[in-house]
Amino acid sequence: MKHISFKTKTTIWITLLITAVCALSVSGLLIMSRSVSANETRQLLSAAVERNADEIEYKNGILVIESDFDFYSDGVYTDVYNEKLDFIDGEIPVSLADSADFISNELRTVESGSDKYYVYDKRIDFNRYEYEIDVISGQIIKYEADYSRPEALNASEYSSVHFENGISTLQAIDIALEHAGTSKEDATVIAAELPGYSNRQVFRIEFTCEKPLYGSVWVRGIVPADATAGAFNAIAKTVAYIIPFFILIAAAGAYLISKKAVKRVEDIGVSAREISSGSDLSKRIEIKGSRDEIAQLADTFNAMLERLQSSFESEKQFTSDASHELRTPLAVIKAECEFALSDKADSDDKQEALLSVNEQADKMTQLVNALLSLTRTEQGTQRFRFEKADMSLLVEEVCASFVPSKGITVNTDIQKDIYYNMDISLISRMLENLLSNAVKYGRENGYINVSLKETDGGITLCVKDNGIGIAKEDIPKIWGRFYRADSSRSGSEGFGLGLALVDRIAALHGAKAEVSSVLGEGSEFKIIFKKV
Ligand code: ADP
Repeated sequence: MKHISFKTKTTIWITLLITAVCALSVSGLLIMSRSVSANETRQLLSAAVERNADEIEYKNGILVIESDFDFYSDGVYTDVYNEKLDFIDGEIPVSLADSADFISNELRTVESGSDKYYVYDKRIDFNRYEYEIDVISGQIIKYEADYSRPEALNASEYSSVHFENGISTLQAIDIALEHAGTSKEDATVIAAELPGYSNRQVFRIEFTCEKPLYGSVWVRGIVPADATAGAFNAIAKTVAYIIPFFILIAAAGAYLISKKAVKRVEDIGVSAREISSGSDLSKRIEIKGSRDEIAQLADTFNAMLERLQSSFESEKQFTSDASHELRTPLAVIKAECEFALSDKADSDDKQEALLSVNEQADKMTQLVNALLSLTRTEQGTQRFRFEKADMSLLVEEVCASFVPSKGITVNTDIQKDIYYNMDISLISRMLENLLSNAVKYGRENGYINVSLKETDGGITLCVKDNGIGIAKEDIPKIWGRFYRADSSRSGSEGFGLGLALVDRIAALHGAKAEVSSVLGEGSEFKIIFKKV
């Protein structure tokens, strides 16, 4: 598969993410606001129908649609139908046939052809009636009865009847009830005589019947659903045009951000390649800008280079020191051989030369052996055999078998039964090195105190002498390979590998090697093993 760069991947991912978030939030918003607005429309519709329903009444036996009735307002069309569902009055929107079923007090969505409508119907059953009777000098002059109840007396018939002393309230009620076609038993009567003047009487009679006397009326409110959908389609269209721009901006932004982030990583790559292709390990990666994760990465690289450089340099130093150490005995061997082979050498000289060659060969063997042990312990090529063993016994045995020269005495102070997980041969080797150093750099008839004790910090093995001591400035260096502090002081001929091996063996056992020394007074070497 073709390699896709980190920049491209990041750009694609961020763009896809932003697209998904945009799409989800916009569609969520549209759906939400669409339903909110549909709800509002439906509420508006039912409120308009309820309000208009209050504007219809039966007055003097006639169906009256008051002037406050809104046939069209706030996008709501309102129509009035009679009991037989015949259209009486109103505004029917375009394609809605009045064939849709009438269901009272229920908001519905009705489809007519390809159009959709919200419809709300209200059935009004008239059981409250209002009559007005205007009488002058006992003659009914105004009484707007209609012909809807032909069997009832109409206004003109009443007006021909003359009431001698005007009409009483009870008579007025009777006239109204008679016209309405009901009796006092079926109606809860509320009657009132309005203030008249001189020979004029005005009656207003209101009553409520249990059973409606006239046919009911339907008020139907209609709102085309498209009225709301239209606005949303427009919003959706606008959003559809805007979103690609958003995505483009997001993609450009994602590209720029990832480019900026990757640029610093690329810089690190370039520096690392430069360092690895050249031979200069002292070069370091330079990173500009804030101290962020990328700067930390560069720091890690630099720390790694630091370690590489130091281990590379110490290897170089080691090789050159080792060759240097081998060169001296080799030169002696070569010179002795040449002399022995020359005509000048008699048999005694040859004998002496051979002895010298033998001595140099021994020295080289010692050096090579010391080098081998150190390298094996350092590189881990030697198999170590760690086992829980009696360290007290081991230290005692090593001290007992050690034969000090120069009339030096070895004193021991060893706590019994100290067990530790260790490689016995390595620990013996370590102690032998410390003891032989204490003799090498010790005084004639001096002493060596060896102690092994359990302490708070762990187990401490201590080798103390009263020898020549170590100069302050040499103390940090003595653990290094091939380091010998002024051998003229001691006349010793060591290789400077003994303490390096001690340090390594201690490290392999998780222990710490320490020294304290006073020049001319003696030295104390401590190996502190951690308690486990
Ligand atoms: P060497 O083969 O020279 O003894 P070591 O690594 O054992 O190498 O020791 C390094 C140097 O540390 C020695 O050259 C010596 O100067 C110093 N040193 C080590 N042990 C003692 C000691 N017990 N007293 C004084 N100096 C010591």
